[in-house]
Amino acid sequence: MSFRGIKLFKIFGIEVNLDYSWFIAFFLITLSLAEGFYPSMYPNLPKVYYYLVSILSAVMLFVSVLLHELSHSLVAIRYGIPVKDIYLFIFGGVALFQDEAKTPSQEFKIAIAGPLMSFFLASVFFTLTYYYPKNDLFNGFLNYITIVNFFLGAFNLIPAFPLDGGRVFRSILWGKYGILKATEIASTVGKYFGITLMILGIIMIFKGSFINGFWLLFLGFFIKRASKEALVSTTLNYILSRFRVDNIMRVMNPLRSDMSVADFMSFVRPTLSTYLYPVLMEDGRILFLDLRDLFKIPYYQQEELLLKDIVKPIEFSVFPEEKLSKAYAYMKKERLDEVPVRYKDTFLGILKASDIEDIIRNNYRK
Ligand SMILES: [Zn+2]
Repeated sequence: MSFRGIKLFKIFGIEVNLDYSWFIAFFLITLSLAEGFYPSMYPNLPKVYYYLVSILSAVMLFVSVLLHELSHSLVAIRYGIPVKDIYLFIFGGVALFQDEAKTPSQEFKIAIAGPLMSFFLASVFFTLTYYYPKNDLFNGFLNYITIVNFFLGAFNLIPAFPLDGGRVFRSILWGKYGILKATEIASTVGKYFGITLMILGIIMIFKGSFINGFWLLFLGFFIKRASKEALVSTTLNYILSRFRVDNIMRVMNPLRSDMSVADFMSFVRPTLSTYLYPVLMEDGRILFLDLRDLFKIPYYQQEELLLKDIVKPIEFSVFPEEKLSKAYAYMKKERLDEVPVRYKDTFLGILKASDIEDIIRNNYRK
């Protein structure tokens, strides 16, 4: 899943972002409330009132979603799982966790925190509606926010992974079947739930309810895809967290920086299995030779050029004790095929993404 949008603000160290798709939701919700919901409940008011209260409702809907995501995040952070970003998007919100829960009970508490917050907000707004004059437009607003929070809590409790209820369901299965099997079962439920929503959406479209129908169709598609993605990433994470970078890195001795490119090409290159290669400079630094840069040098220049003329520093690196799951996520994020392994200032070797992918292939159960 990838999101693109604008940064709003930072709270508890978490960046709150609006995905571009959020604006579509904001527009549609405001429009449908101002043209349908509010005028039908409180007729004969000036149009501008409907629009003001509808904009306020749409904002409060997303504040509610944000509070829901924040409560997941704060519990996660308490268990040492960093959360860098929360995205609000067309289907609600998502908190991007940097790691997975370590035990079933952690996962249970992180997952349940969101719906509990939504039910809490629903009860607060319900109490307010009770005391506020019934025939006032603002009471309609309080009613709307009560319903929104109630549905936010209830919908998310459906046991379809990766919805909150699916995570709760997985945490219960986890203790009995292990994380892999539990994820498989919960994400199968997620898949069929997604398909069901898609079918309902198509039926609604045929019945003439286009906006709601399409929204349901895409929501179903989104849940179906997310359940598959979550299954893949959990499996990868599980396999790779059992290995460390120094288990599979390729140990290398740096080359001398005064070797000519021609000598390198004829004597060293045929023995290489990586395209990054360390070169020891005269001042003691290690810089890197990238074979892909070498191929750009015309043959007739290779005799005069020395390795020190073409090496470059590499900003990226991983630690030898790091788990492969973390290193692999880092390489994917930075789009690296190979990355130097460093311990403090000492260069140790090169980690190749293709070596990690071999491990995944060899350990993946069919
Ligand atoms: Zn949630």
